Amino acid sequence: MTADIQPTYPLTKAQAEEIASLHEADTSELEGRLKDLSETCQSNCTTGFSKCTTHQNEMRKLYQTAYTAASSGRWTSYRPEEYTQDLKKMFDAQASIEKINGRVRKEKLQHIKDSQCTFGPGDHPTAKKIKMRAAELRGTATPQSDIDSYITEEEEKLLSALTSEEQEAQAEYDKSKSEDEKYSYLRTYACTSQPTDTPRDIELRQKWTKLFENKVPYSEILPVVEKDIADAKSNAQILENRLADLRNAQAANNKAKAAKEESKRKQADDAIRRCCSEGCGNVCELNGPNADLGCERCFALKEEGALQDYSWFCSPECAKTNAGSHNSRFHSA
Ligand SMILES: [Zn+2]
Ligand SMILES: [Zn+2]
Ligand SMILES: [Zn+2]
Repeated sequence: MTADIQPTYPLTKAQAEEIASLHEADTSELEGRLKDLSETCQSNCTTGFSKCTTHQNEMRKLYQTAYTAASSGRWTSYRPEEYTQDLKKMFDAQASIEKINGRVRKEKLQHIKDSQCTFGPGDHPTAKKIKMRAAELRGTATPQSDIDSYITEEEEKLLSALTSEEQEAQAEYDKSKSEDEKYSYLRTYACTSQPTDTPRDIELRQKWTKLFENKVPYSEILPVVEKDIADAKSNAQILENRLADLRNAQAANNKAKAAKEESKRKQADDAIRRCCSEGCGNVCELNGPNADLGCERCFALKEEGALQDYSWFCSPECAKTNAGSHNSRFHSA
């Protein structure tokens, strides 16, 4: 599986150490060969090393081999393919060694930046802050050695603030040398469920587990995991907003329900038989001796369909006193 995994930033401590020691060995080997070459030239040629075409060509070959050779475990293996292509083109185009060295230095600086400032999936929030600050410092005139010691100091502070469990996990990660180990670290980090997992988190972990099972390269999984985490955060915000909307809708619904209840109550109120005597308005009894006291003519008209409502009286007294005026108002024609 290792071959499938493209080397990716951030580096583990073990990877950074391996890169540094290989780089040191490579550099001293190249320097040794260059020294031998110039000595050979000095003892065999009369033109002087810088003007000797034969040995200048050999020197170019030494640089070319050192810069473009297969680079497993070296910092160049973390760089995009374009970098090696660029160098090959420069050698083919007979660019000066100074120019080529300049290109290498530029890429090396970018490599240092990427290794110091790229977020890892399991980064502690403080570790992220350190990386952001380091990236900021790189934009200033701060010397590289100051940035290096800033990072070392802050990382030590952070490490001592971690729980022993976290320290153990960090040590385990720091030790992993191969992309394969880093892959399994990421897998463990991404796919192990936590007691605090939301249903969405559980879904995401299932999705990530599938990616790992399908051996999707680390460099492709990393952005997916990071995007999912960011989305989950904004989803939580959306959910919060939706809940607020829901609460508002619920409140509106309750208000509408209350209004409906009120109008129902009013209708029921209206259904109460009110005495039709002018100026009375008493509620008529529905049971008892005074129930169903009403105007006979209105009854008849209502039965014929000519009237909508009966006319009720609250008491025999009201009926007696007001029958006359009722008749003259409603039945005089
Ligand atoms: Zn020579
Ligand atoms: Zn009547
Ligand atoms: Zn009455």
